Amino acid sequence: MKFYSTNRQSPAVSLQEAVFKGLPDDNGLYMPESIPILPDSFLQNAQERSFAEIALEMSKGFVGDQMTEEDLQSIIDAAFSFEVPLVQLDANIYILELFHGPTLAFKDFGARFMARLLGHFNANANEEINILVATSGDTGSAVAQGFLGVPGVNVTLLYPSGKVSELQEKQLTTNGQNIQALEILGTFDDCQKMVKQAFLDPEITGKQKLTSANSINIARLIPQSFYYMYAWSRLKEINKDIVFCVPSGNFGNLSGGLLARKMGMKVDKFIAATNINKIVPDYLLNGNFEPKPSIQTLANAMDVGNPSNFPRLKSLLGDDYEQIRKYVTGCYFNDEDTLEVISEVYDRFDYFLCPHSAIGYKGLKNYLKENPESIGISLATAHPAKFVDTVDRATGSDVDIPLSLEEVMGKSQNSIIIGNTYEDLKAYLLR
Ligand SMILES: *Cc1c(COP(=O)(O)O)cnc(C)c1O
Repeated sequence: MKFYSTNRQSPAVSLQEAVFKGLPDDNGLYMPESIPILPDSFLQNAQERSFAEIALEMSKGFVGDQMTEEDLQSIIDAAFSFEVPLVQLDANIYILELFHGPTLAFKDFGARFMARLLGHFNANANEEINILVATSGDTGSAVAQGFLGVPGVNVTLLYPSGKVSELQEKQLTTNGQNIQALEILGTFDDCQKMVKQAFLDPEITGKQKLTSANSINIARLIPQSFYYMYAWSRLKEINKDIVFCVPSGNFGNLSGGLLARKMGMKVDKFIAATNINKIVPDYLLNGNFEPKPSIQTLANAMDVGNPSNFPRLKSLLGDDYEQIRKYVTGCYFNDEDTLEVISEVYDRFDYFLCPHSAIGYKGLKNYLKENPESIGISLATAHPAKFVDTVDRATGSDVDIPLSLEEVMGKSQNSIIIGNTYEDLKAYLLR
């Protein structure tokens, strides 16, 4: 299987090259040249397969020509060593809890799969890899956890100063070993831009083997399709209209859902739920994609003004606006709505939602008002304890803090503060 660039100016490459390069030279995004469609025999019996079996079947078409099935199986077993519960909250509402990995956010799926894939590809190389990641909060720690202590790999995390939660900052800055956090005096969009520029700068790429672990890396997209298929296979109401609601920022998660659809998952609709950084919901209304500076919200991992996976979303629906509108509908909510939903769901179901997951729940709830016959799955993207202040404020109740978070809170932080221009990052990388 080859991977082409969505800008069509760079040559198609192997998976290994796409994973190492991260970003093609023409500044597009890598996508598989064809998408393997799963056999009906698999789709009809998927409910009998474990998560790992579904993951193996889905990844084989992309990865299978690069390694043995045994190697792929052990990557999958090691990467997804945690539960993926589908919780029924109401008659037609399910919550897919994607936050049971080590850093308590759905980013663990992509980051852990990518880390192990990269480790496999790099096993026989004696060159060091430098992984550069811009994070709005959750990606950085998932990537750091995935690569912590891996020989031959260094990880540099860029996060926006003052714009991540206290817990998130602890998770980013207390890893030590081969992980270095850079606190950027700017926004997440600045971080993302700085990282992108480093990849396009021959002065850097000529000297270091740089790799991106952002959601632009194809190795993160592929595993984000597994849990859609898994959740779908677990529904009792599989013959009804199924809708997924996805709390979105860079739209890597939603692109994973579209990928699962192309592979054969029967789904009626995806709801793109955002905070007031509503670039994609606006596009779905008027056809204009207009990036804007990001605005800070309580759902900070979705504070994205220029969603990096948008070209993938389009390409997975044939670059056709009518197709896109047929399968994706948008909605957005402000902080006040978010707090209200967290409180409402807690009062009604005794269930805690993080701010991102609350936006997803509300988007689904509104959709089901208009489409009462549908069955909805809303993705819960982070553990509520990661946003303990907001959740406690909304519910007036204390959410339990998992042990792993308590441990991290006790550690001392270590980060390097730099400015928000590419020159600042370049000076650091060439130090
Ligand atoms: C990253 C993240 C999102 C947004 O996911 P995208 O793939 O960027 O759309 C939503 N919620 C949480 C908790 C996240 O960490």
